[in-house]
Amino acid sequence: MLIGGLLKFSLIDYPGKVAAVVFTQGCNYRCPFCHNPELVLPESFNTPIPVEDVMAFLAQRRGQLQGVVITGGEPTLHDDLKDVIRRIKAMGFLVKLDTNGSRPDMLVDILNEKLVDLVAMDIKSSLQGYCKATGVKADLECVKRSIALIKASGVAHLFRTTVLRGIVSEENVHQIKALLEGTKNYKLQRGNLNGRVLNRDILDGPGEYSDMEWERLKGLVF
Ligand code: SF4
Repeated sequence: MLIGGLLKFSLIDYPGKVAAVVFTQGCNYRCPFCHNPELVLPESFNTPIPVEDVMAFLAQRRGQLQGVVITGGEPTLHDDLKDVIRRIKAMGFLVKLDTNGSRPDMLVDILNEKLVDLVAMDIKSSLQGYCKATGVKADLECVKRSIALIKASGVAHLFRTTVLRGIVSEENVHQIKALLEGTKNYKLQRGNLNGRVLNRDILDGPGEYSDMEWERLKGLVF
């Protein structure tokens, strides 16, 4: 696994838990609003942090941290993900996995073996809007399969969508709700264009939703 970053202490990335956050390098999507281009674009990668260094850090934090969040980039692109999770679990940590849902073949094993305690999948848009939101020709069958696997898994989960004008419309939100077929574990995140973004062209687009628009969008979700 290529690890591009380690946040040693977080109160916000694992709901209700004190956690460390492991950022994997590499992603198969190119969401224009992505705030982590250094984890997505190979030419921007930092020197990876050795997995053993992360394991050594976590071993020192047993009893102090409750959980570990594995995020990206896209963690499921790494074939040794399951082994890394098993090692973290063996140290007694809860594990939350963040994924874009593009690799259901990896997810199915993780879910069947109950390797994670919480999984969060980004629903980038409705199926109609996926290519615009991801910047690639995303495999929609994989997205649908991941949603179904997560919903049926019995593993605690949540789905979430980052909304920005020109990327995810109100119509898209209605379509996503239909795609998720009434799941209660869905929320919107208000996108922002502060700081670095993966595709600077988005800065010339319609931008962020206003406060009033955001309140309206939030009200659409369950
Ligand atoms: S926001 Fe998109 S491009 Fe960035 S890491 Fe997540 S899935 Fe990849």
